Amino acid sequence: MSHPQDLRIIIVGGGLAGLMMGIMLDQAGIEYHILEQASRLRPLGTSISLHPVIMDLMDQLGLLEDMTKMSKPLRGITVLSAHGRKMGRIDARSNKRSRHGHQAMVMSRPDLHEFLLAKIPAHKLTTGKRVIDISETPSHVTVTCMDETTYTGHLVIGADGAYSAIRQIMYQKLTERGVLPEADKKPLHFEKQCVVGMTCPLDPKKYPVLQDESCEVKVVLGKDQHTSMWILPLQGNRMAWCVGGPDPHLIPQDDGDHTSQGSRGSRGRDWYPETAVEICEDVRSFKCPYGGSVMDLIEATPKGLVSKVLLEEKMYRTWYNGRVVLVGDACHKIVPFFGQGASQAILDCACLVNMFNELPTTETTDLTRIFQKYFDLRSEPAKVASDSSREFADLIYDQGFKADLARNIVLRFTPTWLLRMITGTVTANRPSLKFMPPAKNNYLK
Ligand SMILES: Cc1cc2nc3c(=O)[nH]c(=O)nc-3n(C[C@H](O)[C@H](O)[C@H](O)COP(=O)(O)OP(=O)(O)OC[C@H]3O[C@@H](n4cnc5c(N)ncnc54)[C@H](O)[C@@H]3O)c2cc1C
Repeated sequence: MSHPQDLRIIIVGGGLAGLMMGIMLDQAGIEYHILEQASRLRPLGTSISLHPVIMDLMDQLGLLEDMTKMSKPLRGITVLSAHGRKMGRIDARSNKRSRHGHQAMVMSRPDLHEFLLAKIPAHKLTTGKRVIDISETPSHVTVTCMDETTYTGHLVIGADGAYSAIRQIMYQKLTERGVLPEADKKPLHFEKQCVVGMTCPLDPKKYPVLQDESCEVKVVLGKDQHTSMWILPLQGNRMAWCVGGPDPHLIPQDDGDHTSQGSRGSRGRDWYPETAVEICEDVRSFKCPYGGSVMDLIEATPKGLVSKVLLEEKMYRTWYNGRVVLVGDACHKIVPFFGQGASQAILDCACLVNMFNELPTTETTDLTRIFQKYFDLRSEPAKVASDSSREFADLIYDQGFKADLARNIVLRFTPTWLLRMITGTVTANRPSLKFMPPAKNNYLK
């Protein structure tokens, strides 16, 4: 079965989920248009780690080779004390027998965004279009933007991030009908926040680790304080860093601007960018695992590549209604510790695009049937990914005696094969685009 010939989709949001959805729809020969609120896309200046489970999909889409060139494979995560004492390590390497058959890849997030954006034909993406309303007829759906322009299609995909306007409009309608589950009415939950940045190119003579082909995340834990830091070498002689924790300095003053740059989240009025370095004062005494001071890295970061981010978390129960469906952070906001948020968003896209190829008509009943199937297939894996990300974050970052003990036991005494097995269970399946030739590069050489 294939999709109806005139099927036309409106995608709201030009983040990673929206762009990946566009790339997959192009391959499926389905008409789409992306509406992005920002007048210029400006992704967070940080790294992004992509989970091995999506690599077959990237291979099918012909993206894997270029993505491999712009990234470094992740070797592992080393946890250190503020004085540089090694507290433990998790090996992240895959091997031929692993379930994924690929390595996790780490790259600059702006590089990835730019790469994906270049794959979208210019006439299929319009920036400066903030969607504020949706209306449905028996056969079509129309979105209205802030500037009063309208766009009509057979269905709308809300790929508009954690504070999704599409989700809020959908939920408003369901609330009026009295059918929105109570859990979906609660706001996003957050306990942790961080400042992230990416340095300008550094001198490899000063930081020889930049010449390594693979990379390792070094997490430095503050003693008796609530701020920690991780540092990660990237391609192009740059380093990504993140200073985070439940530190009162970092608690945002909510200015109600929840729509700026999606997962950038809400920002305090008086922090950005001048106070970022001040926030990072908490880690001044940390020993930098790559030499010098951690402040050298922070100070070598252009101001435009420093952002403060709330690490929200929430699994929504309602992912679709009528002609509207959600993907990515709009329906599952995952704390970013395990390379899962973006990877799960990409898995959502692949699952939905496969469903479109099983769509007999554009009637609402047929859409409801495939949206339900999409939810059935994706909600449980996304929840497992979300739970494991949170548990992993707690294991690495929690402070206090009990947390130290748990970390010591897991990092020092759990054998690598068991850790690999545990992390492998998160994504034991390796989804593919059913309408495309299978991935060539199935296993590591
Ligand atoms: C600090 C940090 C580090 C992370 N690291 C990783 C990692 O290493 N690996 C990983 O897999 N995941 C990571 N994540 C998570 C990952 O970034 C997200 O899961 C992913 O970017 C979600 O993509 P998205 O497209 O759903 O949402 P977003 O990236 O938030 O994109 C939403 C887009 O929609 C637009 N938009 C919003 N409202 C509207 C509207 N009304 N009209 C039109 N457009 C609108 C926004 O401007 C934005 O461009 C990290 C997240 C953070 C915060």
